[in-house]
Amino acid sequence: MSEGADLAIEVSGLYKRYGDNEAVAGVDLSVAIGEVVAFLGPNGAGKTTTVEILEGLRTRTSGDVRVLGVDPAEATSAWKERIGVVLQGAKHEGDFTSSEIVTMWSAYYRSPRSTAEVLELVGLSDAAGTRTRRLSGGQQQRLAVALALVGSPELVFLDEPTTGFDPAARREAWQTIGGLRALGVTVMLTTHYMDEADLLADRIVVISRGRIVADGTAAELAAHAAMPSQISWDAAELSSDRLPRQLRDLLGADESSAPPASPDARAVPPARPTIATQDVDAVVRELLAAAGGAGTRLDSLAVRPPTLEDTYLALTRDESKAGEFTRDEITGDSP
Ligand code: ATP
Repeated sequence: MSEGADLAIEVSGLYKRYGDNEAVAGVDLSVAIGEVVAFLGPNGAGKTTTVEILEGLRTRTSGDVRVLGVDPAEATSAWKERIGVVLQGAKHEGDFTSSEIVTMWSAYYRSPRSTAEVLELVGLSDAAGTRTRRLSGGQQQRLAVALALVGSPELVFLDEPTTGFDPAARREAWQTIGGLRALGVTVMLTTHYMDEADLLADRIVVISRGRIVADGTAAELAAHAAMPSQISWDAAELSSDRLPRQLRDLLGADESSAPPASPDARAVPPARPTIATQDVDAVVRELLAAAGGAGTRLDSLAVRPPTLEDTYLALTRDESKAGEFTRDEITGDSP
C-alpha cells in the first residue's frame, strides 16, 4: 500500500512519550478508504493514545501522520467535519428527544444530513420522539453513531462501541456499524471483543507495548502465529487408550490426564479427547483409521480452527510469535 490518494490513514514512525514512558513506540499503519479496521491490544498498549493522535486530540512526539490527507496536528474545522468520533459509553440523559438532539447537532455542520435520514441510517426512526434518557443502552449507542454521521463523515472512529452491552444490544450496535460499510465510510474500531473484531472488520491490527505486533485478516494472523486447530471427538466412540502411540502423544494435557474413576463415573458425560495440530488432514486420517481398526465410527469428530481470540492471546502473550510482522509482509505487497 503506497498510494497515498487511496489511503484514509497513513502513519509512519509514530512515537509518543509521556516522560520516560514510551506509550507509542514506532507505529506504522495504513488504512485504505472504505476499510473497516479493528484496533486491538491489551490495556495500556497505546490504542487510545494512537487513535487520539489520529483524531487531532493529542500531540505526538515524532512521526508522520496523515488522516484524509491532512496532518491532524494542523486540523482545520473543514477537516474535522470529514471525521466522526464516537466515544466510549456516550450517553444522552437530557429531556430532548432523539430527533431534537440530532437536529441540534446538525447546526454544527455546513451541509448536514437530514434528521430523518440520520435516524433511519442507525435504525432509530421508531425512537425519533423518545426522550433520550428513556433510550436503552443499545439505542443510546445508535444515537451516538447517528450524531457522528450527521456531517456525512468519510472516516469514523468508534471507541469500544459495545462495552457493557447485553447480547441483544450488541447485535443492534453491530448492525449499525455494519451499515457504515455500506455507506463506504472508513471505520477505525477500537475494541476488546474478538467476536466483534472478527465479525465487523476487514483487517485486524494488534498493538502491544506501543508497537504493532500483527496486521492482517484473522486468517492471516492465525497462519502467521502458527496457531493449531483443535480436533476433538467423543471418548465414548473412541477412548484415548485405543489410539496409536503417535496420536496419544498429541492429546491435550487436560484430556490425557483422566480424572480418577469415581463410583458415579457413569453419570459424568464422556470427555472429549482433544488434539491441537496444524496438520489437520494427517491427524483426521489417523483418527479415522484408528476408529476403523477399533470397529467404531467417529460421528462426533469436530475440527475447530483457531479463533481470533486464540491468536490474539498468543500474539500478545508470546513476543516470539508476534515478532514485527505487517500485512505487507504477509501479502508480499511493496511497502
Ligand atoms: P486501554 O485498553 O486500557 O484503554 P490503551 O491501549 O488505550 O489502554 P493508552 O491509554 O494509550 O492505552 O496508554 C498507553 C500508555 O500510556 C499507558 O502506559 C498509559 O499509562 C500511558 N498514558 C496514557 N495517557 C497518558 C497521559 N495523559 N499521561 C501519561 N501517561 C499516559
